[in-house]
Amino acid sequence: MNYISTRNKNIKVPSALAIKQGISEEGGLFVPDSIPSFSVEEISSMVKMNYRERAFFVLSKYLTDFSEKELRYCTDNAYTNEKFRSEKIAPVVELEKGFNILELWHGPTCAFKDMALQILPFFLTTSIKLTNEDKTVCILVATSGDTGKAALEGFSDVEGTNILVFYPELGVSNMQKLQMKTQEGNNVGVCAIKGNFDDAQSGVKKIFTDENIKNELEKRGYMFSSANSINFGRLCPQIVYYFSAYCDLLEEGKINPGEKINVVVPTGNFGNILAAYYAKLAGLPIDKLICASNKNKVLTDFINTGVYNKNREFFATSSPSMDILISSNLERLLFALYENDDKEIASLMKKLSEEGEYKVSSEVLEKLQQNFYGGYCDEEATLETIKYIFDKYGYTCDTHTAVAVKVYLDYKEKTNDETVSVIASTASPYKFPDNVLKAVAGENKETDDFKLLEKLSEETKTEIPNPIKELKNKKVRFDKVIEKSDMEEAVLDLLK
Ligand SMILES: *Cc1c(COP(=O)(O)O)cnc(C)c1O
Repeated sequence: MNYISTRNKNIKVPSALAIKQGISEEGGLFVPDSIPSFSVEEISSMVKMNYRERAFFVLSKYLTDFSEKELRYCTDNAYTNEKFRSEKIAPVVELEKGFNILELWHGPTCAFKDMALQILPFFLTTSIKLTNEDKTVCILVATSGDTGKAALEGFSDVEGTNILVFYPELGVSNMQKLQMKTQEGNNVGVCAIKGNFDDAQSGVKKIFTDENIKNELEKRGYMFSSANSINFGRLCPQIVYYFSAYCDLLEEGKINPGEKINVVVPTGNFGNILAAYYAKLAGLPIDKLICASNKNKVLTDFINTGVYNKNREFFATSSPSMDILISSNLERLLFALYENDDKEIASLMKKLSEEGEYKVSSEVLEKLQQNFYGGYCDEEATLETIKYIFDKYGYTCDTHTAVAVKVYLDYKEKTNDETVSVIASTASPYKFPDNVLKAVAGENKETDDFKLLEKLSEETKTEIPNPIKELKNKKVRFDKVIEKSDMEEAVLDLLK
């Protein structure tokens, strides 16, 4: 399998190059040039495998230039029980018949980003080897909170790499900030910017495509890559857990082979839900993909009207990792829906960057709505949902997961669709303890971050995950805040 760019499909590269580069030269995103297919029998054969074996099985159809030994090295080292606090890596919890939560946050940083960012460094070092690269790869990351920490943790002290993370100064939770500021490792850098996530993401994208800065770094022996979900190496590991969840449901007799399920995903940059769509294209029996947004509901409006319009007020919400108005991975979905029409995609993306808005054709809108349902959840309903789920099922969920649960419950009420559903749970409640405690206890006057954790633990009778508990004793290493216009300089500074 090769990878082509969404803006110029004549650009065709093997997966190792797509992963190493992160993004195509002209700004397009790499997508597979064909769709692998998994039969009902093949999917059933994965039931008896553990997560590492399932990951190998699925990924081997995407990273075809990796040898079996290379790929096994990646999957075996990424998804270990030392790194993940759940034997199953990504367990499915049933709250009620047909209502399942896929917990994706048992990794080292307690967010679903670990599912991809624990394996990406192995992909990347393998790709460096496969492409005979002699430069040091510098990973630039823009984060709305969770990617930053997960990428830092994954790449910390990985040989041949350097990583620099930009986050919006006021756009992440205290815990997320503390996780990043205390990151250990000799090849890491962290920098806050005065701006929001979209500013950070645009800044990083600009640096990627800037010839001058690229040449300067080449002279110094560096090349850029990305750990954001624009990198296909981030997306493909996310396809795996939808297959794995399906197998778990099969194993427990909750569905029959071939039976369709619905998948609900709290969405920001459209990476996680796109992975579910790719799983569906590859034969995983999925009916509806339910896209849940917070108050920044640009995707809900898009799915309902076919008009993508980012010219709107930006809200900082209690689910900060979804505070995004430019969902990068939508470009990949459009490429698929427009049947690989690269010219059309280039023109839509140009419109988006120049006018902040575009509209898809009526045929594309129809295909979009056949596959996707879009809904959103406001701030009040987010906390109410945490409380509702806690009271009804004794289950504690974070703010992002609550957004998805609320949209799922609304969808069910509206459609009476009884299809077995899997809701992607994207973060541990302990990453957002102030809001979760406020929701379950009714009020919260505690301001000390670590006392908050303890109160939340008492209130919900759940355990504080170790990586969060241990932050208390870590030293702050990074507290620089820069103007968003100074990002290039910060990069050049770090790579002296
Ligand atoms: C990143 C993130 C999301 C959004 O995922 P996308 O792939 O960007 O759509 C949702 N919830 C949490 C907790 C996240 O960290």
